[in-house]
Amino acid sequence: TKFIFVTGGVVSGLGKGITSASLGMLMKARGFRTTNIKIDPYLNYDAGTMNPYQHGEVFVLDDGGEVDLDLGNYERFLDTNLTFDHNITTGKVYSAVIEKERRGDYLGATVQVIPHITNEIKERIREIARDHDVVVVEIGGTVGDIESMPFLEAARQMQLEEGRDNVAFVHVTYVPKLRVVGEQKTKPTQHSVKELRSLGIQPDAIVARSEDPLEEAARRKISLFTNVPPEAVISAYDVEDTYEVPLMLEKEGLARYLTRRLGLPEREPELEDW
Ligand code: ADP
Repeated sequence: TKFIFVTGGVVSGLGKGITSASLGMLMKARGFRTTNIKIDPYLNYDAGTMNPYQHGEVFVLDDGGEVDLDLGNYERFLDTNLTFDHNITTGKVYSAVIEKERRGDYLGATVQVIPHITNEIKERIREIARDHDVVVVEIGGTVGDIESMPFLEAARQMQLEEGRDNVAFVHVTYVPKLRVVGEQKTKPTQHSVKELRSLGIQPDAIVARSEDPLEEAARRKISLFTNVPPEAVISAYDVEDTYEVPLMLEKEGLARYLTRRLGLPEREPELEDW
């Protein structure tokens, strides 16, 4: 199985969810058995009791699981039904680890974030990965948040354990344009990639969210400072309709680049019905 982790930098609400859903869809359209996982780094067990004014509507899955509305996007984009296991929250992970500890499963060991919490996270991701060619894992929150640290650490470990050919990282960032200067600014992207690299994760592709298409100068600069080849610096500008996002990412070559990076057979996606 190939794993694609999607992280976010600079600010929240960038479109990590839409990017992850689109990526899942583009992999599925290539004939790979694909599924998506959403990681929510909050301590709540599920989204069922969360204030909809803060978090948007709660999405209810077929098995009754109450989750973040990103899972709704996954279901629509991948034309599939997901289960409660496809949403991993800090609350679920800690709850499971504490239950195991009380049961004596750890045989008196000191139970710690590393390795016990990170192992629990990896186990849950691998469990879903069975019977799939590609799993897209969206890590909620922004790189640098304390809350998302164990998940990023688990992802880093997975690249070591599964091998570099089997795990890729996509980092979604924001490229603002200062009206008075009229230039797209790459510094926030540089900083967030630096932060990600300080955690041992080198992104394979950057999805740069901006109002207008990414200018060539900005693309080159991001590439140079982040050590990501220019063709893997993907422009995701604002579009009218989020259903256009997969087509935009396909044109930009994100999925093509990742299939090559992961050693998957190169295929044209079936997008006629989209
Ligand atoms: P995140 O998961 O990073 O919080 P979401 O995927 O939920 O972000 O996206 C935040 C909002 O931005 C959503 O309303 C989504 O529809 C919108 N959005 C995402 N990408 C684009 C885009 N390229 N153009 C216009 N709107 C977008």
